[in-house]
Amino acid sequence: MADKIQMKTPIVEMDGDEMTRVIWKMIKDILLTPYIDLKTEYYDLGLVHRNETNDQVTIDSAEATKKYGVAVKCATITPNAERVKEYNLKEMWKSPNGTIRAGLDGTVFRSPILVKGITPYIPTWTKPITIARHAYGDVYKNTEMTVEAGSKAELCVTKADGTEERSLIHDFKTDGIIQGIHNIDKSIGSFARSCFNYALDLKQDIWFATKDTISKKYDHRFKDVFNEIFENEYKDKFAEAGISYFYTLIDDAVARVIRSDGGYIWACKNYDGDVMSDMIATAFGSLAMMTSVLVSPDGVYEYEAAHGTVQRHYYKYLKGETTSTNSVATLYAWTGALRKRGELDGTPELSDFADKLEKATIQTIEEGVMTGDLALLSKLDNIQKVDTETFLVEVDKRLKALL
Ligand code: NAP
Ligand code: MG
Repeated sequence: MADKIQMKTPIVEMDGDEMTRVIWKMIKDILLTPYIDLKTEYYDLGLVHRNETNDQVTIDSAEATKKYGVAVKCATITPNAERVKEYNLKEMWKSPNGTIRAGLDGTVFRSPILVKGITPYIPTWTKPITIARHAYGDVYKNTEMTVEAGSKAELCVTKADGTEERSLIHDFKTDGIIQGIHNIDKSIGSFARSCFNYALDLKQDIWFATKDTISKKYDHRFKDVFNEIFENEYKDKFAEAGISYFYTLIDDAVARVIRSDGGYIWACKNYDGDVMSDMIATAFGSLAMMTSVLVSPDGVYEYEAAHGTVQRHYYKYLKGETTSTNSVATLYAWTGALRKRGELDGTPELSDFADKLEKATIQTIEEGVMTGDLALLSKLDNIQKVDTETFLVEVDKRLKALL
């Protein structure tokens, strides 16, 4: 066999939990280490090790990602009360994704992987639509109260010099509710820069939408921050790349998205992104075919699958039963990281390998070989449903032919 592909700089490798941890090792053993002299800085974010290190390992992995610029992450358990019991945890550790996102001040981009045989519910969507969701503030960090009849609710801001600014929300004649939300310019700016950087990276147009006609200060600030950063920092780069930035109202955006053929990034405020990313994922077919990448405003990338640890399949696996778990999104997390590493290091053979591995994956599915979840969705008529490992072995056969 030919010499293995060499790497210059390590990728930060964040291992995870349950079925995806099993898949993680299979991907490395079957599809990566036979071809690449894989250089990674390994962090075990599996729940057992997070608990042992009091979650320090998660913080360390985010720091390492800032240092090296590229990370690949396996799905991890976000503990709840059940998990605290199951793993005998010292604490209900926070979501690793939340910790890493906060550490990198990043934005999450989610895109579907399209294959022949699995048609989106919107038949005109022939290219992927990538959703960028702002991950700070708004209704997710709100303050709410129920209000009794006869109360007067005001917004009151106490400034640094002690003076107050007040504005009436409502004079309550009957019982009701109020909500206070906030955002900060810095976070909106980071969101905008991550979006513009990623658009340049994918060479795709970017859309952004809010309800600034109604929310003349709050949503309007989002629009202004995006505009200002675009005009001052990105306009020329976009012209050079032949892509555009497009702002519209959220309701107009929704109508345009449905009529579009895809192939752009749709930046959404926090709540819009929460709702729209589930709609887009469902309409494109399968959560197991959604990739996710966290991009920081200064161009640090962390790749992962959008789905979780596939707990139900893992318990079957532990009982020795055959599983047919889809590894495509996890595989694409690896190819995304390898391609980016190749670009940053000037090692085109690494990026080229990533391209071929993706091609082999698509080819496998389009030739009818797929895991159970896709077999249920696919309209191909020569489907061969395979188990978790066989799928990867089938990808490897096609990869060998391409290399
Ligand atoms: P999940 O792992 O996404 O799985 C939910 C269901 O979706 C599975 O039971 C399976 O359906 C289907 N599915 C998802 N991915 C699949 C794949 N690759 N192949 C085949 N089927 C797939 O969500 P969950 O079971 O609600 O969560 C499990 C754990 O994941 C939780 O502890 C949660 O905290 C964690 N989680 C982590 C992340 C992350 O690290 N990014 C994200 C979400 C959730 P069937 O059972 O019907 O086959
Ligand atoms: Mg949601």
